[in-house]
Amino acid sequence: MLSKKIQAIRGMNDLLPDQSPLWQYFEGQVRSLMQRYGYAEIRTPIVEQTALFARSIGEVTDIVEKEMYTFEDRNGDSLTLRPEGTASCVRAAMEHGLLHNQTQRLWYQGPMFRHERPQKGRYRQFHQVGVETFGLEGPDIDAELILLSARLWKQLGLHEHVTLELNSLGSSEARAAYRDILVAYFERHYEVLDEDSRRRLTSNPLRILDSKNPDMAPMLAEAPQLLDHLDAESREHFERLTAILDAAGIGYTINPRLVRGLDYYGRTVFEWTTSALGSQGTVCAGGRYDGLVEQLGGKPTPAVGFALGIERLILLLETLELVPQEASAPLDVYLLGMDEPATRAALLLGEELRERLPERRIQVHCGGGSFKSQIRKADKSGARLALLIGEDELAHDQVTVKFLREEREQQRLARGELATTLDTLLASP
Ligand code: ATP
Ligand code: MG
Repeated sequence: MLSKKIQAIRGMNDLLPDQSPLWQYFEGQVRSLMQRYGYAEIRTPIVEQTALFARSIGEVTDIVEKEMYTFEDRNGDSLTLRPEGTASCVRAAMEHGLLHNQTQRLWYQGPMFRHERPQKGRYRQFHQVGVETFGLEGPDIDAELILLSARLWKQLGLHEHVTLELNSLGSSEARAAYRDILVAYFERHYEVLDEDSRRRLTSNPLRILDSKNPDMAPMLAEAPQLLDHLDAESREHFERLTAILDAAGIGYTINPRLVRGLDYYGRTVFEWTTSALGSQGTVCAGGRYDGLVEQLGGKPTPAVGFALGIERLILLLETLELVPQEASAPLDVYLLGMDEPATRAALLLGEELRERLPERRIQVHCGGGSFKSQIRKADKSGARLALLIGEDELAHDQVTVKFLREEREQQRLARGELATTLDTLLASP
């Protein structure tokens, strides 16, 4: 019987060896950035109780309504693969007492799961870097998060390719009052609303503003704006934030229709977008969620955070050809022995060199083969030098250096002087 080959799940990608250096480069940039700002990493499980997400993200959101990977485990408990990181982070911080009379600046990275229609920049397993801060209510921390993300764009060479959009969602009271005004407006334009929006009219009318349906665009453009209905404190918070951004020279546009797809946000919300990735243009998004900790059973705790989509940023680096040399990580040295005793010597020499030259990337040829095929492998490996050990070299405790990337006579070196000479040879361009 012919059995069908098992393949990966649609929308869930393998990261292949030729891509991993770029991911490692990106992840390295993120890690060092977080250290430079004094943020601590937190790692939480990728599975949580379903109720955590339903209660935090909101029952009437795209994520909870139709995107979650939810299943029953063997005990009959309803579990969900995390669709985002904030809820888990809050849960963990509460559970381990990280929010008692202290502030926290945390970050994490890892896979998230959403059952969406897979396309370029949109997958069912994707990866985010998230940053969450707790216990700080002033606009200074909102500004710090924006400055931190702006620095990441600068480090990656992306600063001229992304733009910042800002909005304030105000206090929950202001939002409630605005909601009534908005619903009244939508009711007057009921015939223009699509099916999704009609359903949201009673459950989550603010989300209608976020609709991408072009038929609704003219009506949405005329809709009353939340920014005109902000409470005085939120207005002041927002003005203090924009004052810091102005002083720091961070450009932004205020987008009064930016509402974000999750229920827990209030006051500051922001998104970094690019025009280089088509409709999947949001690379980073976040905002303030002062009510969430309390909503999940903790003490009222101001909080603000953001998440960025790693796949989209990797795509952006590739699209703009901003992948640096270091992200392709070739070998320095390919070591080969012509027969079994020489191979043994090559393995030992490899260890010795790694001991003395810890920065160098050295690979030893395994699997035998003719001289020709070994040299071909050495060439394909991308290494700059091949080190050959044959019978004669072995007998004289020597090694032959072959230059793989330049026109240059090969050299015989005594094994004892190899480490020093090698470093000089590799240091020259
Ligand atoms: P979108 O409007 O593109 O669906 P979102 O508002 O659902 O995004 P968030 O929940 O704010 O996204 O997640 C933060 C970031 O994670 C997004 O800005 C995006 O870069 C990335 N992201 C979200 N969903 C996906 C996905 N399915 N595939 C790849 N990246 C994603
Ligand atoms: Mg989405």
